[in-house]
Amino acid sequence: MKAKQIQSVKGMHDILPEDQKYWRYVQKKAEQLLEYYGFERMSTPVLEQAELFIRSAGEGSDIVDKEIYTLKTKGGDTLALRPEATAPVVRAYLENGMNVRPHPVKLYLIEPMFRHDEPQAGRYRQFHQVNVETIGDASEAVDAELIFLGYKLLESLGLENFNVQINSIGDQNCRPAYLKALKDYFKNRSKKLCADCKVRMKENVLRILDCKEEGCKEAAKEAPQMVDFLDESCRLHFKHVLEFLDEAKVPYILNPYLVRGLDYYTRTIFEFVPDEPPAGGAASQSTLLAGGRYDRLIEQLGGAKTPAAGWAIGIERIILAMKEKDVHVPESGPKPKVFLVQLGEAPKRKALPLFESFRKAGIEAKSSLGRDSIKSQLRIAHRLDVRFALIFGQKEALEGTIILRDMDSSIQETIPLEKIVDEVKKRLKA
Ligand code: ATP
Ligand code: MG
Repeated sequence: MKAKQIQSVKGMHDILPEDQKYWRYVQKKAEQLLEYYGFERMSTPVLEQAELFIRSAGEGSDIVDKEIYTLKTKGGDTLALRPEATAPVVRAYLENGMNVRPHPVKLYLIEPMFRHDEPQAGRYRQFHQVNVETIGDASEAVDAELIFLGYKLLESLGLENFNVQINSIGDQNCRPAYLKALKDYFKNRSKKLCADCKVRMKENVLRILDCKEEGCKEAAKEAPQMVDFLDESCRLHFKHVLEFLDEAKVPYILNPYLVRGLDYYTRTIFEFVPDEPPAGGAASQSTLLAGGRYDRLIEQLGGAKTPAAGWAIGIERIILAMKEKDVHVPESGPKPKVFLVQLGEAPKRKALPLFESFRKAGIEAKSSLGRDSIKSQLRIAHRLDVRFALIFGQKEALEGTIILRDMDSSIQETIPLEKIVDEVKKRLKA
């Protein structure tokens, strides 16, 4: 009887070899851009104390209420698989004394995240983000630089059909009055709200604006707007961010109802949303990038009052968008120049050291140990579009020679084995 196959965990996916070129490409573009702008890469563990996310994202957030994966250790700790990276970065910043480094501290991560989301196109339970954080600078220039970099990153990945939505959700001084106005507004419309939003009415009324249910969206249509409640310093901050963006020629849309799902955001928040809903999904469900300012988080996690801002992109969603747009992505790795054809036992045994000598000489070579016929091996050589095939048969292995075949002209010459690497090198240069 055949053993039952074991399946992957729901919502978690393998990344197959043919997709690696996309992953490398996104990672490379992100690294190049972010390093140029002075961001340094770091990593944090996949597991954190669950408390870190409960305290930062907040009870009542999707992440903490529905999506967090927690586990109890034998020692009795409650740990969580990281659902997002900002809180871990801040934890690491404080724990490693990065607060004494010159500010702002500019960091980025490229890491997997875990959320118990409902799996669908662009929504998984293990997914990956590029996360960018600028810690220790309250100025408008930081918000603008972050948005600018997100815009440039997507642009460099061949993505153009998205809009930058931006809003300010004020701070602890001016937001309470707005929340009260919102509550009064929704009180008269509570019948239209979904069960979750009825709870949000009590716990976090702002999140009703983030609800994806049609009824709630309908109910929110004429809700009061935060812009009308911003105090003078928040209003000026927001105005300056927009001026910076105008200057940098980043087009944006003011979305007065944009809010973020997490508690720690203050002032500027933004999302990059595709213009067209992708196949099998709504545009609002396929936000490519999201972020904002979080001036209170570091304090909330036990540090000194330190302003900060950041964003994250979902790499899977970016790759889906790239594929949908047919963005050309170069094959990863250098193109092979030489293909080693081996015929028979003795050549196979000697092939490995020969192959290695090409690697040492910095010449990209390929071979196919599993194939035996010259025809099938030359076919691969053709497909790889190499300049030369090296044909290594029983006779050559015995004589200490090898046949050098020019793939364009099909001209073949016999060369002493010890000279072959130099000979190929010489001809590649010519
Ligand atoms: P959504 O509203 O789509 O659930 P979110 O507000 O929960 O998104 P953030 O926490 O802001 O998302 O995460 C930033 C980015 O990470 C998102 O814009 C998206 O590109 C990506 N992302 C979030 N959740 C998932 C997921 N479950 N699967 C794949 N990508 C995700
Ligand atoms: Mg979500």
